[in-house]
Amino acid sequence: MTKRITVLGATGSIGEATLDLVRANRDQFEVVALTANTRVEDLIALALEFRPQCVALGDTQGADRLASALAGSGIDWAVGEEAVIDAARRPADWTMAAIVGAAGLKPTLAAAEQGGAIALANKEALVCSGVLFLDTCARFGTRVLPVDSEHNAIAQALANNRRHDVRKIVLTASGGPFRSSSLAEMGQASVETALAHPTWSMGAKISIDSATMMNKGLEIIEACHLFDLEHNRVEVLVHPDSIVHGLVEYCDGSWLAQLGSPDMRTPIAHALAFPQRMAADIAPLDLAKIGTLRFEAPDELRFPALRLARDAFAAGGGLAAVLNSANEVAVAAFLNGHIGFLEIAQCVETCLDQATKDGLNQWSMTCFEEVFSADTYGRDQAGRALQALMRA
Ligand code: NDP
Ligand code: MG
Repeated sequence: MTKRITVLGATGSIGEATLDLVRANRDQFEVVALTANTRVEDLIALALEFRPQCVALGDTQGADRLASALAGSGIDWAVGEEAVIDAARRPADWTMAAIVGAAGLKPTLAAAEQGGAIALANKEALVCSGVLFLDTCARFGTRVLPVDSEHNAIAQALANNRRHDVRKIVLTASGGPFRSSSLAEMGQASVETALAHPTWSMGAKISIDSATMMNKGLEIIEACHLFDLEHNRVEVLVHPDSIVHGLVEYCDGSWLAQLGSPDMRTPIAHALAFPQRMAADIAPLDLAKIGTLRFEAPDELRFPALRLARDAFAAGGGLAAVLNSANEVAVAAFLNGHIGFLEIAQCVETCLDQATKDGLNQWSMTCFEEVFSADTYGRDQAGRALQALMRA
């Protein structure tokens, strides 16, 4: 039987890796919908190759090009934010949520409401709407399959063991391009060096998040939601080799871990074939050749984003959403050359301080309006904080 699948964020790094697996197993999948934002030519090429029922492009400027390229193809197309949400709403057995940032929230929620499984890469959606998203999934009987490599590893290491027997989980982090850099060097970091991730090839936003380690901060929050754990039972371990992706410590002293080459197609294949397994063309893991696996404690002085994320989650309410949206704005400002590397975390911290003063930690975050307001609040505050930083 074929699996009907949708890929939200089809033109991105995760979308591409997902469709690579589908391409290699074409007869097992029927593509329902593919979405993108601005890369219209890439979306057209994917549409003509995978013949989905429909494609949607967030950016309305691509309408004419889509119209001419897909005329007579039998593939429905539409543009605009609502079109992406409508595409996510089409019935599918499995949806890859791989839009980057909080922009993925509405489409991911729409997909959750149609009941097929959600392969979740878009961690920002979960960070800003954890309770709402998981409640929606529970209400519609939607299974969430973690795609983030660490969370996928933890899900595999948890398997059918009782949660009660888990002492803690450990998310590994490569440490990013500045793992061994001094604070002074990080202060001078260029966009190019910050984007040059040592082990993973990813989109620009998550690459910068990896360099600041905000990615790991977001992942702590993601893990707390996905595995229903308090944040002090989620640890981070720097592991520059990126071979061990996540570990679970059990009450009897056993540790279970998942290992693999740093290739996102492995966790995606796990989610795509779940509960079975599918073959994926991954470079063989030669542990004898690697020889040594290194582990280090993270340095929260050079990487304050870890502390900020933990504190935001512990404070509760809308603070995680503010952390996320302020970070999105600050990362974009860094990528555009408006602020320095260390100012990303400074900006986020300023926004979180203000949000606490304004009582956002008291918000319930159980409805979309509150999630959206907290997200907008973080963006507005970050805009102000950036102006102050740029004037200084
Ligand atoms: P990319 O930047 O490579 O791709 C993002 C995708 O989202 C593109 O298809 C893009 O369209 C689309 N998109 C961006 N903005 C919008 C919008 N406003 N509306 C609709 N679609 C939009 O990101 P990645 O693939 O690297 O990451 C995707 C998600 O997966 C992120 O949340 C990231 O944190 C997570 N993730 C990624 C990993 C990786 O290895 N890359 C690992 C673990 C998690 P277009 O191409 O047209 O701009
Ligand atoms: Mg990850």
